Amino acid sequence: MIPIAKPLIGEKEKELVMEVLSSGMIAQGPKVKEFEKNWAEYNGVKHAVAVSSGTAALHVALLAHGIGPGDEVITSPFTFIASANSILYCGAKPVFADIEEKTYNISPEKIKQKITDKTKAIMPIHLYGQSADMKEIMEIAQDHDLRVVEDACQAHGAELSGKMVGTYSTGAFSFYPTKNMTTGEGGVITTDDAALDEKMRMLREHGSKVRYSHEILGYNYRMTDVSAAIGIAQLGRLSFCNEARIKNAAYLDKKLAGLDGIITPYVMKGAKHVYHQYTIRVTTESGWERDAFAKMLNEKGIGTGIHYPIPLHKQAVYRDLGYSDVLPAAEKMAHEVLSLPIHPSVTVKDLDYIAETIRSALK
Ligand SMILES: *Cc1c(COP(=O)(O)O)cnc(C)c1O
Repeated sequence: MIPIAKPLIGEKEKELVMEVLSSGMIAQGPKVKEFEKNWAEYNGVKHAVAVSSGTAALHVALLAHGIGPGDEVITSPFTFIASANSILYCGAKPVFADIEEKTYNISPEKIKQKITDKTKAIMPIHLYGQSADMKEIMEIAQDHDLRVVEDACQAHGAELSGKMVGTYSTGAFSFYPTKNMTTGEGGVITTDDAALDEKMRMLREHGSKVRYSHEILGYNYRMTDVSAAIGIAQLGRLSFCNEARIKNAAYLDKKLAGLDGIITPYVMKGAKHVYHQYTIRVTTESGWERDAFAKMLNEKGIGTGIHYPIPLHKQAVYRDLGYSDVLPAAEKMAHEVLSLPIHPSVTVKDLDYIAETIRSALK
C-alpha cells in the first residue's frame, strides 16, 4: 500500500530526543525556546509561541485578539473541524463564508457578504498547503477594522507573493504527524506584535508571567521539550520535504493532464503551494462516483484521503447549534475531492503507478 501520509523520522530526531530524555528536563524548557527561535527565523517573524497542538494555537491566537462571547468570526466551512471549533471555544460564533471551487479556499467576495456589526475577525484557512487570497482578505479586514487569524495548520513554508503564510497576520500552525512536519502533537503561533506575544505566552501558561501569579484565565497548552526536540530536527528538513512534495505534485500534474473528469490542483498566481495534500476532483464526467473511485484505488494498493467528506455547517455538532447554511461550492467539493499520496517517501515508480491506474480506470 502506498500510504496517503508518512512522517519522515531520522537519526537527528532520535538523537535530540535522547538528549532531552537524558537531561531530566522533559517538559517545556530550553528545547522549546530553541524551537521557537528557529521557527520565528524560518518564517521571518519576530515571535513564535509553541503550544501543545494546532487547535490550541488557534484558540490562543483568537483569545489574544480579544475574541469572545457576542463576536462573530468569518471562516471557511471546508476545513478540518478544529478551525471553527476554536472559535466556539472562545464563546464566539463561527460564520461560514463559501469557498472558491478553484482553490478550495474561502472566497473574499463571500466574506464581504457575511460581515455584520458583530463581526470581529476573519479566519482564513490555507487549505492543502496553498495560501488563501491574503491580499484581498487583509484589505477587507482593514476596511472593516477586523482582526485576522490565519489557520496555517496545513501550510508550513507556503507563500503568497513571496511572503510566508502566517505572517500576513497572526498565524497558527499544527505539527500533527500527517502535516508537512511534525512534533508528535504540537503547534505554534507566529506574530510580529510584542504585546500579542506576551498575551499568548500567558494564555499558554495558566495566565501567568511570574510563577503562581495568575493575572487572567489561561490554559495548560505547553509544548514539551521532547516534542520541541523532534520539531528542531523536522524543521531542519522541512524545505527538503516541501521541495519533494512540489516535485511529486508537478509530476502527477503532468501525468494526469487532459483526463476527462479529473481536475488537478489549481495554483493561484504568485502562490507557493506546499502540497500538504495533492487533491484532485473526480467529477461526473469521469464516469465514476468519487467514493467508488477511491475504493478502487485502495484495492489496487493506493492510499487516498477525503479532505473533507462533510463541510462543517453540515456536521452534527453544528446542526445541533442551529446551522442550516446552504454553501454550494463547499458542498459540491465535499462530494468530489480526493487526495492522492505525494509525500516525500512516494517514489517516481509509485507516481507512475498511481497515474497509470487512474488513466486505465477512465478508459
Ligand atoms: C490539523 C489541523 C488543525 C488542528 O491541528 P491539531 O494539531 O490536530 O490540533 C487545524 N486546522 C487545520 C486546517 C488542520 O489541518
